Amino acid sequence: MKFQAIKGVRDILPQESALWNRVEQAAREVFGTFGFAEIRLPILEQTQLFARSVGQETDIVSKEMFSFQDDEFPELHEFRAFLIFHQLSISNTTPFDLFKAQATGFVGKLARHLERSELPKTPESLRAIKEIPLLLMTLEKIHQEYAQDASSQLQDKFDLNLSHIREHLRAVQLGDNLSLRPEATASVVRAYIEHGMQVLPGNVKLYYMGPMFRRERPQKGRYRQFYQIGAEVLGASDAPGIDAEVIEMLMRLFERLNLMGTVLSVNSIGCKNCRPAYLERLRDALREIRDAWPPRLEHDTLRRIESNPLRVLDSKVESEQAVIEKLPRITDHLCAECRAHYDEVKRQLGLRGIAYQENWRLVRGLDYYMRTTFEITAPGLGSQNAVCGGGRYDGLVELLGGPATTKGIGFAIGTDRLVLSLQESGVGEVSGGPARPAGGLDVYLAWFGAAAQTAAVGLVRRLRDAGFVVELPAVEMKFGKSLGLADRLKARHAVILGEDELAAGVVAVKRLADGTQQKLAEQDLFSYLRAARDF
Ligand code: AMP
Repeated sequence: MKFQAIKGVRDILPQESALWNRVEQAAREVFGTFGFAEIRLPILEQTQLFARSVGQETDIVSKEMFSFQDDEFPELHEFRAFLIFHQLSISNTTPFDLFKAQATGFVGKLARHLERSELPKTPESLRAIKEIPLLLMTLEKIHQEYAQDASSQLQDKFDLNLSHIREHLRAVQLGDNLSLRPEATASVVRAYIEHGMQVLPGNVKLYYMGPMFRRERPQKGRYRQFYQIGAEVLGASDAPGIDAEVIEMLMRLFERLNLMGTVLSVNSIGCKNCRPAYLERLRDALREIRDAWPPRLEHDTLRRIESNPLRVLDSKVESEQAVIEKLPRITDHLCAECRAHYDEVKRQLGLRGIAYQENWRLVRGLDYYMRTTFEITAPGLGSQNAVCGGGRYDGLVELLGGPATTKGIGFAIGTDRLVLSLQESGVGEVSGGPARPAGGLDVYLAWFGAAAQTAAVGLVRRLRDAGFVVELPAVEMKFGKSLGLADRLKARHAVILGEDELAAGVVAVKRLADGTQQKLAEQDLFSYLRAARDF
């Protein structure tokens, strides 16, 4: 069997990872100058964290997460399966006693695990440990009555009670529901609350980088495992200057990377005071269109009218565009505070010389956004041209159990797309052949004979300590083959160490570009290589 990476995930090979590192390093440096520090987050979180924050109705949560139930106590699963599937009849004594003993044992174990918080305390599980013992008592009574006086009525009662017990058993959650994170803002906020960061002075500024997972339909620039570099500002202030500075930081990063042709779009999607009224207006307008003839909306759009009408504005369906353009615009329905906030964000962007365009349809797919939303597109990416999305999420900390006074804003750059755009524009080309480190190989150390191998190991160590990139063949090779390999690896120099050189206390250095060769003592070798590299 031949293994391949699964659908929508890919390897990032050395000729590409050099550029990835450059991008990540630039982000660390630029974000560092804005006072951001790195947070490293877990990849697995409780599914509920994302359901709560990203939103149950979003595509991400409703269909794209890689989720599973954690299974710390497999014996409980077996136990339950036995209780659910075991054939049990009222007329047979032994199986009933066995069932009762097993069910009592299961409830006891479950209660202990719940008490120790080893299993999720869902309402269903708490109900099960209370109800099952009572139902078992009733069941036993019916069973005894039946032994005195068998009737089909008692049989029905018995079966009904048994099915109630089994319903309770099925509803018990025997492990945490976990998901691979589809995004990281929820995790940052979870960590902020968990570690009590609200007591820190000023705004908490954090950045992160790493893989995210969404079960999307893969295409160019869209993967199931993709990477994001993101940053969040959490704190008591929602000053528009924070929004503008976060956007400025992004622009500085893109500038540093020579990413040309980016376009920044901004919008405000209101707050909990003004958005509900707007959503009702939007829904009403959409319902009118839905009910008119001929039908002009697609299935997905029809569904969203009720579940998440803002998402309708995201629609890329060609035939819906004219209709959408005529819908009520949130920008015309902002409350006075949101309008003032939005105006000030735009003024502050201007202050920083940042060009932007307004896009009233920029609503972003996640539930937690409010007020400022923004997106940056870059060239060379086809239809998936958003390299970065972000926005303000003032209610999220409170929603996840933190202080209501904490506000937040952040963004996430799609690293895959950023790298792709740099490559397409030629900025991201990395010299050196495949599978070579970014700067290429300084030295290929060809050794011949056991004594030379010992000397070579020591010399290579000193060269690497001095910062040179060195390749040391692991086995002895014939001269021609060894030097041929040095060529193919695109080494700048072959350093040759054989018995003759060893005896003379020198090495031979061959510059592979032109074949010139000379013999040098070790200390001269270092200065020679250093000069060659600087050149
Ligand atoms: P979001 O978390 O959906 O706001 O996305 C932020 C950024 O992450 C987007 O602008 C994209 O650049 C990137 N992104 C989102 N989903 C994917 C994906 N499936 N594959 C690659 N990049 C993605």
